[in-house]
This record gives sequence, C-alpha cells and structure tokens, in this order.
Amino acid sequence: MTHRIYNFTAGPCTLPLAVLESARAELLDFQGCGMSVLEISHRSKRFEAVHEETLALAQELLAAPADFQPLLLAGGAHQQFDMIPLNLLADGGSAAYINSGIWAEKALKEAERVGDAREIWTGRDSGFTTLPDALPPLPADCCYLYLTSNETISGVQYRDYPTAAVPLVIDASSDYYTRAIPWERCAIVYGGVQKNLAPAGLALVFVRRDLIKDHPRVPKFLTYAAHAAANSLYNTPPTWQIYMLNKVLHWIKDSGGIAHFEAESINKSGLLYDYIDCSNYYQSDVPPACRSRTNVTFRTPSPELDTRFWQEAERQGFAGLKGHKLLGGIRASLYNAMPKSGVEALIDYMQTFAAKNA
Ligand SMILES: *Cc1c(COP(=O)(O)O)cnc(C)c1O
Repeated sequence: MTHRIYNFTAGPCTLPLAVLESARAELLDFQGCGMSVLEISHRSKRFEAVHEETLALAQELLAAPADFQPLLLAGGAHQQFDMIPLNLLADGGSAAYINSGIWAEKALKEAERVGDAREIWTGRDSGFTTLPDALPPLPADCCYLYLTSNETISGVQYRDYPTAAVPLVIDASSDYYTRAIPWERCAIVYGGVQKNLAPAGLALVFVRRDLIKDHPRVPKFLTYAAHAAANSLYNTPPTWQIYMLNKVLHWIKDSGGIAHFEAESINKSGLLYDYIDCSNYYQSDVPPACRSRTNVTFRTPSPELDTRFWQEAERQGFAGLKGHKLLGGIRASLYNAMPKSGVEALIDYMQTFAAKNA
C-alpha cells in the first residue's frame, strides 16, 4: 500500500489520492495516444478538450454567471497582484485595499507601483487577527475595492463579502472551492490554484466581461483582453497544472460539489476550534467571528513548546504544522483533500502532547 501521511501544509497542498493515482495511471500513455499529457501540443485536439472542459467545470462548480469569463493564467496569484491594477487602473483613478494580512499587503505594494492605490484599513496592529466591522469610506475616483477572502498566514477569513459601489476584487486563493461566491457583489475573483486545487504556477481568474478591455500602454501579455480573446491559449499554458486542475474539479463534482465541501469545511474547522477553545493548553489569537476555516492558527503555552509540537508531529506522520516564519506558532491547513479523519487524528495528537507537556 502507498505510504501517505496527513499533510497540513498551507501550499502547495495535499491533493486527493484518487487524483494522483489517476494521473499516475495515465502518465506514460494519455488516452491511448502513446504519449504523455506532458508531451502533447497545447493545440492538439486531446489537450484542447481537457482545457475546454476545465474552464466549463470551473465555471459550473462555482456557479459563476455567464457574464464572468474564466481565465487560466500562468504566474500564480502574484501575477494577478500586478494584472489587476495594470488593467483596472490603466486609465487613472484610485484603488482601495483592505490590508487584512501579508497577502493583501503584497497585493497593495504591487498596486502602489502601478497607480494610486490606498490602504483604507489595516489589521497590522492586531497582528492581522481581525477584519473590518464595516466597509471604510472609499477614496474619490475609486476604480475597485480589493480584499483577500482568506489570509492564509494569520488565519482570518471573511464570513461574507461587503457590498461595494465599485467593482469588488477578491483574492480567494486559500478558500477557493470551499465556499459559494456571491457573484452579484464581485467583479474579479481569482486564486492561485496550489492552495486547494492543483500543483503550483497557475491562477484561475474570473473576470466580469465588461472589465475586459485592451489597454494599449500595458504589455499585451498582462492584459486580460489578450488572454480572453485567445480563450487562455494565448501562449503555451501550464498544461500539467490545467490537466491536474481538471481532475481535481471532477473529484469535487463527484464528491458532491461546493455545497458538500462548504459543509465539510465548517465541520472540520469546527472540530479543531472547539477542541482549542475547550483545552486550557492551546490558544487561538483570532476572534471566532473571523477565524479561517481553511488555515487554523494556534499556539501552545510557549514558543519552545510550539517548536516541539510540530517537530514531534512530523515524526508521527503529520506534515506542515509549523506556523509561517513571520508569525511562529502552529498552523493546520484544512483544504478540501484533508479528510475529517486527519483532523480527528490531529486532535488526538494534540491531547497527548498537552498531557505530556503540561
Ligand atoms: C499563497 C497565496 C498567494 C500567492 O500565491 P502564488 O501562487 O505563490 O503567487 C496569494 N494570496 C493568497 C491568499 C495566498 O494564500
């Protein structure tokens, strides 16, 4: 039997075993063509079918309306930090950023290189453990409002997105396909796929079609228009990532779709937070109203014990529990492919560790 451990890494993340097995079975000979999917042209009928189906499934599973165009773009989420301001601030104006954590801040810094990007709220003083109670006022000439659905590092997540009078842009990298999207409030929803959906390097971006325009002064490769016109085959795309994304989307659909995974996400994170709150040993810095369901951050009574916690955990078959280097502590990432049994096993380990190190 294959040796598999519980992988709580924040990203690249654990992928469903069934998906990995299926990819392995097809690796040398894709659909009887005598070549690997890694070796065939992105313009071949076989790959085009995978590509088309991936875009259609991506749209269908998240129930994205037809006025949103899905794009598969190289460069992961970071390239979107640049493409968003390059496309939405090309004609001037300002942009409003809610700085809820390390990822929002990186996006803001990139937007500042492009145009008039303003931080309208920051959670820095709380160590990025909070979210705004209400939407702060937007600057004049605001072209879009930017927020991060789930801050992967500190573990804060919007329960609900605000309604804004300007286009709302969402980085959903680390809770993509774990929850439904309120499309009527959104203009761009995007994510790097490696947090929950596929191997790293690709972004899945939904852009409302009225925002897709050519901008003659923006390098063409960085315009949504170029990729939209070519149906995401403008250049040679990351074919392996798209192929794997296709398999994961099928797996999501066959498992019961977004509704199933949203319920699972509530259930799995609830088990872990309930245990943390009941224990006198572990502690979460994040108030319940903004706790992430995909990245659960917590601490033992001391930084030394935190280190012992994840080191011993590794020896017992739990990978990736070390907190992010900027924040320390412990982080358990509970993406779709993490089964409830993994969370239960982690809680068992936590109980034993607390008893031994009290
Ligand atoms: C990981 C992550 C990113 C960065 O993704 P890359 O694909 O490495 O660019 C951006 N935003 C969030 C919320 C993330 O979790």
